[in-house]
Amino acid sequence: MSEIDTKLVHGKSQKDNSTGAVNVPIYNSSTYIFPKVTSKVRWDYARSGNPTRNYLEDQVAELEGGFKGFAFSSGLAAIHSVFSIFSPGDHIVIGDTIYGGTYRLVNEFFKRWNLEFTAVNTQDLEAVKKAINPNTKAIYFETFSNPLLRVTSVREISKIARKKKILTIVDNTFLTPYLQQPLKLGADIVIHSATKYLGGHSDVIAGIVVTKNQELAESVYFNQNGIGAVLSPESANLIRRGIQTLAVRMDRHLSNTLKIVKFLQSRQEIKKIYFPGLSGTRDYKIATQEVNGYGGIVSFELQDSIDTTKFVERLKIIQLAVSLGAVESLIELPYKMTHAELSKDEQEKIGITPQLIRLSVGIESSNDLIRDLQQSLDKLDYEF
Ligand code: PLP
Repeated sequence: MSEIDTKLVHGKSQKDNSTGAVNVPIYNSSTYIFPKVTSKVRWDYARSGNPTRNYLEDQVAELEGGFKGFAFSSGLAAIHSVFSIFSPGDHIVIGDTIYGGTYRLVNEFFKRWNLEFTAVNTQDLEAVKKAINPNTKAIYFETFSNPLLRVTSVREISKIARKKKILTIVDNTFLTPYLQQPLKLGADIVIHSATKYLGGHSDVIAGIVVTKNQELAESVYFNQNGIGAVLSPESANLIRRGIQTLAVRMDRHLSNTLKIVKFLQSRQEIKKIYFPGLSGTRDYKIATQEVNGYGGIVSFELQDSIDTTKFVERLKIIQLAVSLGAVESLIELPYKMTHAELSKDEQEKIGITPQLIRLSVGIESSNDLIRDLQQSLDKLDYEF
């Protein structure tokens, strides 16, 4: 059995290669020949299945230790197809600090179709238990919450879910299978915005779902084919290629992030740092038991008297942009950018203030990144 670094480079062979090409071709065919009207063909129409996409789907399923993978045209399309396995009247417990777009999908789309949702702090296991009703069908959360990086135990939530015979669904975008494999900790479905670390280069939008068993795979496949938000063969190839370098990129993301956290700790302009690798916190305790690294994202608050807009706009190497998990470092102000969907009250309730900054650390030289942060901090006027 290969280790994960090897599995990342070598996906599962599709056994249809007559040329000796080391990579799966980009099959740009929307339709396939039936030798006879009655033939049972493996491929018939590219929404239903495409060999390039299938390679990626098998690649991620293997990495996550799941039964079957499915690739979608975006992370949100993947999430839409997963929530679409439920029926009107079903209830789902969701994390209270999930990605803003997921929050919008749940509140402004699925509620119209009579799915019910209760948002809770999934780190609080008693609150999760309390939120489960007779019609609850699943618990959905992100292991590291966005943007405050609060850590939820996949193992503990899965235990609660199994007892109640409901599903555990984990958005594993921030960690990737390199740092955590939620299915092995008891989850039933894993979702990725492959736009982030799996693709890794800010050049493609994609989503992935991996199910633990065949029954769930059949439900998700029905929605993938029936709703039709499939990933194109070109984009599937970009994600496949990104995954091959995930281990080396992730190792650099992790080491750069640790150095940047250390730098931030040394600066008096920084009021608070949110990073699960900081010992002594509950997040650290859970993360240490369930992940193989504390991730490539750090959030922090500047002192109240500091203008965060000026700070992020004066950076030269670190780009002011939403998204994360790319080779280039990206920084943003959640209250104005990624989490602008939330009302001021909702933002305040979960700790998103105008002083909060989220940094997705890239794979550039850590010295250059620290120098960039330093030059912008040095220019700030502030009073304590
Ligand atoms: N899940 C998480 C944790 C995300 O951060 C994002 C996007 O930022 C999504 C899902 C949605 O993915 P996409 O933008 O690929 O639709």
